[in-house]
Amino acid sequence: MIVPISLLAELLQALPQLRAQIYFKSSMTALSHAMEDLVLAGSDEEPLVIASFQHERFYREEAHRYRRIADRTSQVYVLSAPETEFKNSSESHETVAFAPEDALSKEWHLVVLGQHYSTCLICHEKIVPIDHQDDRDPLLIDQARRFEGIWTFDREVSCKAAELLLDKILKYRPELAEKIDRARTTYNLAKIKKTRKSSASKSAKPDKNAAKDSKIPNPKLSDAFAERLVTYLQSGQHKLLRAYAAIAAQERKERLINLITTAMRRSLNPQEIVEVAVQELGTALSASRCLIYRCKAADIAAKIDREFLRPGTNSLLDQTWQLQKNPIFRDAVTRQERVYIQETAQDPLIVNTKSLAETVKNWQIVSWLMVPVLYQGRVLGMVEMHQCRSASPWEEDEIALVEAIATQLGAALIQAETYANLEELNQQLEALDRTRSNLIAITGHELRTPLSTIQVCLESLNSEPDMPQELRQIMLETALGDADRMRKLVQDFLTLSHLESGRVKWNVESLTLQECVDLALSSVRSRRVVDRQLPKIIAEVSAELPLVEADGEWLVEVLSKLLDNACKFTTPQGTVTIRAKCNGSRMVEVLVTDTGRGIEASSLKIVFDRFYQEEGSLRRSAGGTGLGLAICKQIVTGWGGNIWADSAGKDRGSEFHFTIPIV
Ligand code: ADP
Repeated sequence: MIVPISLLAELLQALPQLRAQIYFKSSMTALSHAMEDLVLAGSDEEPLVIASFQHERFYREEAHRYRRIADRTSQVYVLSAPETEFKNSSESHETVAFAPEDALSKEWHLVVLGQHYSTCLICHEKIVPIDHQDDRDPLLIDQARRFEGIWTFDREVSCKAAELLLDKILKYRPELAEKIDRARTTYNLAKIKKTRKSSASKSAKPDKNAAKDSKIPNPKLSDAFAERLVTYLQSGQHKLLRAYAAIAAQERKERLINLITTAMRRSLNPQEIVEVAVQELGTALSASRCLIYRCKAADIAAKIDREFLRPGTNSLLDQTWQLQKNPIFRDAVTRQERVYIQETAQDPLIVNTKSLAETVKNWQIVSWLMVPVLYQGRVLGMVEMHQCRSASPWEEDEIALVEAIATQLGAALIQAETYANLEELNQQLEALDRTRSNLIAITGHELRTPLSTIQVCLESLNSEPDMPQELRQIMLETALGDADRMRKLVQDFLTLSHLESGRVKWNVESLTLQECVDLALSSVRSRRVVDRQLPKIIAEVSAELPLVEADGEWLVEVLSKLLDNACKFTTPQGTVTIRAKCNGSRMVEVLVTDTGRGIEASSLKIVFDRFYQEEGSLRRSAGGTGLGLAICKQIVTGWGGNIWADSAGKDRGSEFHFTIPIV
């Protein structure tokens, strides 16, 4: 039963003068429909129609047409390889299920024979390997399938094709012999077969019902055919144009997105990025006005600083644009998606909101689109497109383009911000690194100096056992003094590092300044008594002062250090005074003044730097680490106060001021 020989090959063998040509599936569909329409529109009695589809699915697409054709003639045969329900049957028309292995499954045939017309399409599919990576629309791939074959009006060829197809039908459906014989007789098919065998030069004698000259198609018939064919081709062309338009729109969108994103990516300056986006979007969408502004979801208003404007539209530049009062903005921000009002005049929200209606009127907004610029759910800004006066509204694909750009914009802005933050962080890190290096150098030097002294003293004591007792005593005292200085230095250094790390836990409480001053004074007195005589100390701190808010221990530390310094740099004949007063309504100002050696105007600020000492650490006369004032500054700024020094100059005394918040 299986027939592996191609029908096209058989036909070409029988009629060697025929030349096959290539047809796309789309052209074959158009031709087939035009051929079928000959039957549907013609008045011939019992025309013969034989159609062979490769597979049931292709037949299913056309089944309705064959049911209509069957209303006009009983001689309709449809062949196909079954897939689900297609089988041999004789319902409205004859269906013939051929084996999938049959060569017919690679072919596509249609033969239409009437008294006034004859035409056939006999084709064999040319298999072109399909690229599996190809992700094009399967429908497009189907329409581009290629067939090789014959399409003609020639009656002789059509009859021969009908004959061959009827032979095949008979093999699959022998019970149709009688019906097939009727068709053969009507269209003189058997006769053609016989004459061709006897002599190739003698052509078949047409049946009395057949067209007079089979080679020349009836002009009316070919006109009608051509007309139908043109209609099909036109509709195919129309579909193609629509597809091209869709592709072109998609391409335009992608090109624009690429253009804008490349421009945006090229810059790491957020202002530049917004400028590029606003200009490109406004131009691409032929907007009357395009605005892009930075804002947060809760912002009351935004200043318009970037704008695209079509000539003749009034500018919103430098205007304060209301956000929270605008329900469209609120809606876009809440839903985190675009809001598009195609006709503001018809929108109930705008019509019923007085302020919004006024905005629309003032700025002549006919179509209004708002697309939020988001990054991970955070509102970074807004893209607004306005169409004013008679400009046409936007299509869905144009709005999708604005959304795509807004997404890119969000990413670009975050990228720029991250870069800026990174730059700042980098600068901070570099500064920190410089400070660290300085600190290591200075600390190293500060520690090495007393260490060298200790070493020299101890070596001398060790190597000179005969050293006079008096000198031994001096050596020992010097070593001990420097060891103590080293201890203080390490302690102050650790305190300062701790304060600078920002990890200090402040134990803030309400304090009476007077009590803290008393504590500081007793600590200074107890320390100084051993060293040398102190200058006169006067404390003028009123008990009436408001309570201050600070960490008591640290406050006493600041007071002690300032009093200590004042005593250190003032002769026993001089005076040190501590006073306090209200500085405005929020702060108490404490003053520690002395009549000592004073500070040069140029050093008033740098005395707070680490390791600053006027005479340098090597020639230090009064001892100390050079870290005391740096520690004071850290403590005072820690509670939000200020500290500064004043002096009328050398030997004219100094004034140290600092402020503490009032409770
Ligand atoms: P030190 O432990 O050396 O006193 P400080 O940081 O407390 O370190 O002081 C730094 C420097 O500021 C001192 O070495 C001194 O040169 C100067 N200075 C501080 N207080 C006074 C003051 N009351 N009078 C004059 N100079 C002062």
